[in-house]
Amino acid sequence: MNGNERRRAGRHFLQIPGPSPVPEAILRAMDMPVIDHRGPQFQKLGLRVLAKLRGIFKTEGHVFIYPTSGTGAWEAALANLFSPGDQILMFETGHFAVLWKKMADRLRLDVALLDSDWRGGVDAARVETRLREDSARRIKAVCVVHNETSTGVTSRIDEARKAIDAAGHPALLLVDTVSGLACADYRHDEWGVDVSVSGSQKGLMLPPGLGFNAVSDKALSYARKADTIKAFWSWEEMIPHNARGFFPSTPATNLLYGLDAAIDLLNEEGLDHVFARHLRHAEATRHAVAAWGFETVCRDPRLHSPVLTGVMMPEGHDADLFRQLALERFDISLGMGLGRLAGKAFRIGHLGDINDLTLLGALAGVEMALNLAGTPLQAGGVAAAMQYLAASS
Ligand SMILES: *Cc1c(COP(=O)(O)O)cnc(C)c1O
Repeated sequence: MNGNERRRAGRHFLQIPGPSPVPEAILRAMDMPVIDHRGPQFQKLGLRVLAKLRGIFKTEGHVFIYPTSGTGAWEAALANLFSPGDQILMFETGHFAVLWKKMADRLRLDVALLDSDWRGGVDAARVETRLREDSARRIKAVCVVHNETSTGVTSRIDEARKAIDAAGHPALLLVDTVSGLACADYRHDEWGVDVSVSGSQKGLMLPPGLGFNAVSDKALSYARKADTIKAFWSWEEMIPHNARGFFPSTPATNLLYGLDAAIDLLNEEGLDHVFARHLRHAEATRHAVAAWGFETVCRDPRLHSPVLTGVMMPEGHDADLFRQLALERFDISLGMGLGRLAGKAFRIGHLGDINDLTLLGALAGVEMALNLAGTPLQAGGVAAAMQYLAASS
């Protein structure tokens, strides 16, 4: 069977941890003529979206929107605040933390990295110790990934903040919540985050193309004083335009229509319900994984991600061959193992516009493909997930 040539009936199962499936209501909301981005119709959209987005980050402060991916939003955060030679502290939770670090290296920042085995979250005690050692107060910021998409570990951002405060250190807190936002509980203001970095194609259920920076007043005034080189990414440039609902250059107009609709969908369901739904689907997935006799990548029971589950393949079995088989036979895309987990793990995305039966369909695809790939596994993973879902609501 060649799935690439013949039309495949039914819906493709996009079960990677972003991009996530885009709901019809969002697709329809974006199916609009492109309007004048300096005109009154756009102004209403701009003002509305900029205001509503604050509720998603749980901030009263500025949220900047760029036509970019999450990577661009990473760069925006670093470019506004730091110059070559500035020291920042990063925590290596996994592949995305490493990519952010590589970007900081390329921007010639001086990165102090706390490493890890990629099977847990940010260790707040180590952050605190490292900050206490920095008696000269050279470290300008602590950068952490909220939901590490390569492993399926969600770190405690409140604990990272407490570590900085406990050390009595003035460092800013920068958080990548590209895949965490709108899936996992997130509180920019309450947790004392200075910059939250995110993107459109994960919890917000939009196509790729928008990047976000939520910025505290402390970070804004820090950026004003810091003599950094930034142009396109400049927060300061954006502020007067945003105040009137506009942007300095052409925004991604139709994605903003989509964002408007996405936030409405999230609010109609209720953010707390959205978070609970993700937690429940993650738990159902772990029931399946345990029944198969597999291990999750995440070893810390407090930190299992509601967004995705990283699954270790049994020794000697190639995760990518299994994923390829799943795609060919069952039209399901699963996440690959990234970086040091390449070939050794796969990832099941359960984020965004997903319900119980979508999840069960995905898990059925995984179980059948594991069997077809000759992976040693115990039967009954899907049944275990069904049982859990039926018994919980
Ligand atoms: C997806 C993702 C990114 C990168 O975003 P792009 O849109 O691919 O540039 C960064 N960090 C995390 C945690 C992600 O999940």
